[in-house]
Amino acid sequence: MVCSKCGAELDNNALVCPTCGQAVPDEARIQAQAGGQPLAKKEFLKLPAMKSCKSNINVCGILLYVFGGINIALAVGLGTVPIDGIILILLGLGIHLGKSRVCALLCAAYSIFNVIYMLYSTGKAAGVWIVLIGIDAVIYTFKYHSAWNKYKKDGTLPVEKN
Ligand SMILES: [Zn+2]
Repeated sequence: MVCSKCGAELDNNALVCPTCGQAVPDEARIQAQAGGQPLAKKEFLKLPAMKSCKSNINVCGILLYVFGGINIALAVGLGTVPIDGIILILLGLGIHLGKSRVCALLCAAYSIFNVIYMLYSTGKAAGVWIVLIGIDAVIYTFKYHSAWNKYKKDGTLPVEKN
């Protein structure tokens, strides 16, 4: 790639131009590393504008693994089948690895149903955290997919807000 300020030829991994000191934007480096090919999903997620989507989706997935693990441990301790825990981990996998909107929607729907069910059966609103995770996952998987679809359609790279 070339420096946007002085036009010097740069290494594709360069963070700054060695000739004039101009910082190389992450977008330019990611595109140069793709070698003129359209970005794959993995590279697309490295764009600065996708940082919040990527981290929110990752956090949702990891939290679902944690809550799922706790659920499984509790169910095994009680000698019951750990269905809830398995569902949470599967949804976590779908959201974390698959960036799946369907899994995010299922997580939100399942967790809301679960809170209502717990409220009726025990009088306590248990599992509210999972609802928050589900809603966050819905917001960011949809954001990610709309940015990706826009890029696929006309090559528009997402721009960082603020
Ligand atoms: Zn330069």
